[in-house]
Amino acid sequence: MLLQIVLRKKASALTALVTAAAIALLPMPAAQAQKGPPVLRDTETEQLLREYTRPILRAAGLEKQNIQMVIVNEGSFNAFVADGRRIFVNYGAILQSETPNQIIGVLAHETGHLAGGHLSKLREQLANAQTQMIIAMLLGAGAIAVGSTRSSSAGNNGLANAGAAAIAGPQEMIRRTLLSYQRQQEENADRAGVKFLTATQQSPKGMYETFKRFTSESLFAARGADPYLQSHPMPAERVAALQEFASSSPYWDKKDDPALQLRHDMVRAKISAFMERPETVYRRYPQTNDSMPARYARAISTYLHGDLRSALAQIDALIQVQPNNPYFYEVRGQALLEGGKPAEAIPALRKAVQLSNSAPLIEMLLGQALVGSDNKAYTDDAVRILRAAVAREPEAALGYMQLAMAYGRKGDYAEADLASAQAAYLRGDNKTARELATRAKTRFAVGTPGWVKADDIVAAKPPRN
Ligand SMILES: [Zn+2]
Repeated sequence: MLLQIVLRKKASALTALVTAAAIALLPMPAAQAQKGPPVLRDTETEQLLREYTRPILRAAGLEKQNIQMVIVNEGSFNAFVADGRRIFVNYGAILQSETPNQIIGVLAHETGHLAGGHLSKLREQLANAQTQMIIAMLLGAGAIAVGSTRSSSAGNNGLANAGAAAIAGPQEMIRRTLLSYQRQQEENADRAGVKFLTATQQSPKGMYETFKRFTSESLFAARGADPYLQSHPMPAERVAALQEFASSSPYWDKKDDPALQLRHDMVRAKISAFMERPETVYRRYPQTNDSMPARYARAISTYLHGDLRSALAQIDALIQVQPNNPYFYEVRGQALLEGGKPAEAIPALRKAVQLSNSAPLIEMLLGQALVGSDNKAYTDDAVRILRAAVAREPEAALGYMQLAMAYGRKGDYAEADLASAQAAYLRGDNKTARELATRAKTRFAVGTPGWVKADDIVAAKPPRN
């Protein structure tokens, strides 16, 4: 399951690929969601990124900080640290990283920013200062233009030039100071990143390759092409310095484990299949390519854009090769669920839950299939599974929506209203959340846990912007 969470007001051209339920799944509290980036949720991808990051965070002494990985729904290359506890990675950065080592290098660099306490606030201030300064420079340039017109008629070029220097001088000094400060932070993050890679016996070559690619591309790239270049200026000296100290690593030539490379390629294939147009998917993964990633990409693309029967045949062939891969059963279940066959999706999703060690996002999908099957015998099971899922993913609106439906089936309208209120709250729809929670309060006995939860939602302040 690869879910695109389209935030309110931020419609995506790719919405058609997504289940209606998926759109409702918001991973962040409403207050952050409203201003946060659109996010992708996928157990397989998140699990891989966590495995990439965990040893790096441990080497950086940050393993206790509960740093989260967030996949941003953007096809451009970017990775950044925003609030000191989350590492954001564009799906484009994963797609564009040919090896695990390349993206791990970028994650190590970002961890360097985290470990160095390069606070986002400070970086924002720098960015603001730079914007202010650019505006000031533009205004200055305007003044100069006017000045030179006047002066040419007056025949007084010298004075106009002196005026220009007086305006541009201090700005230039501020600009250089900020730039050198930012460069220092980048170099520190490079050095810290290489240190973490060495401590975990990994090669810094991927980091170097990625940054090197940006320096060479920046020569040709149009302004503003890739956000990573804007947040991470890559002057040639920085990359040369990186090469200098990185290449002395004893692990410089160490290659990625082939099993990890395969998982990386499977995730890239999945992202391509979900996020790119079928023509692009088939160009990347033509029929002549018989590798597992290519077959995975084509199977997903077939279920999204082609016919269900052919997709299922392709997925079953993948299951034959890797009968213990939870994500093949997950995609089989999702294809059936979205193909309008929730009852048939249940066995595959049960298997996916079991093999994934009860991944909450997959449990939510199973809950959705159980509720959607219209079989009352499944209702208690759905409630149990969905309650367990939302306990571990308390910010996912999808889980609460399904839970509300399951309670509705049972005739437990107090719990159904409460779960609906929680879903609305997570979507950022505070008005609906308050209305539903108010109604829920009338259905619970005063002071019971359900009443208290509903009361919390009624009393919750609307998200600040
Ligand atoms: Zn950086």
